[in-house]
Amino acid sequence: MSAPIHLLNPNDSALAEESLTRLLFEEASARAHFVRLGSTLSAITSRHAELAPCLLSLLGEMSAATTLLSGALKFEGSVLLQLHGDGPVRLVVTECSDSLGLRGTLTLDSTQTSPDPQSTLTQLVNAHGQGRLSLVLDTKAPGQRPYQGIVAFEGEALAGAIESYMSQSEQLPTRLWLASDGQVAGGLLLQQMPQVGGTARGASDPARREDAWNRLCLLADTVAPSELMHTPPGLLLHQLFWEESARVLDTRHPRFECPCSRARVGRMLAGLGQDEVESILQERGEVETRCDFCNTLYRFDAIDCARLFTEGDSSLLDSASQPGSTTTH
Ligand SMILES: [Zn+2]
Repeated sequence: MSAPIHLLNPNDSALAEESLTRLLFEEASARAHFVRLGSTLSAITSRHAELAPCLLSLLGEMSAATTLLSGALKFEGSVLLQLHGDGPVRLVVTECSDSLGLRGTLTLDSTQTSPDPQSTLTQLVNAHGQGRLSLVLDTKAPGQRPYQGIVAFEGEALAGAIESYMSQSEQLPTRLWLASDGQVAGGLLLQQMPQVGGTARGASDPARREDAWNRLCLLADTVAPSELMHTPPGLLLHQLFWEESARVLDTRHPRFECPCSRARVGRMLAGLGQDEVESILQERGEVETRCDFCNTLYRFDAIDCARLFTEGDSSLLDSASQPGSTTTH
């Protein structure tokens, strides 16, 4: 059964904080996705509280963009956005599952001095023109490898880099607006829908469809960063699109979620090989690793490590231990 369709209501309380809303514009044959993150983003950035505000904003914009892409791509599995920087920022990763579980992390280049708080995005991630943006689709289907597409980081803004990537890879005109102060993030994605049998669904003729699409883009271009972050979503979408017969298709609610587990860490250690793990044990007495996304500490002592290689992917690892516990025996 399809979701109930209703016209945009400025007081719609479902379109609250922590929401991802899909809108349909029939005349333009286009969809909009609007995301607002508050406590979800705080859960991500509070684990990186030492970072400068410009870095937390970047993490916020990446988080909003990944949530929007997860909604727009309708992919069964996780959508990851990775920004490989060549400036003070080495790597930013944000990941959104198909149930809108969101996590993110930012790693600075330890060989460089910490960035100036006034740094532009280009100075942070594309100082030498080698910055890259990659989109990874990590399918749930067993045995299937993740899909990865990479583009050079161009332009001054994250939204522009993602727009050009999406327009090339999806071959659908896509526009994106993002804003974040590190505590709150907002994002709007507009995308034309594919043509079906030579004509667009819901649009009477191509010229009218194109006019309607251009109008939508002009309207969305009027949105201010502060509105993306702070105006109640229902009210903002109404203010932007009230003349365009927008229909709300559905609203879902993102939340912070890190799927790391002792079993996954165990598999990662097993993948390093027994020699490597033995040498860490000899040096430190135990193997200790911390999740970059949620800070959970995992410890494996000599007996745990031996089990990794004698019992393989043991169910003991799943059931006997909570994250952060010292041993499983
Ligand atoms: Zn974790």
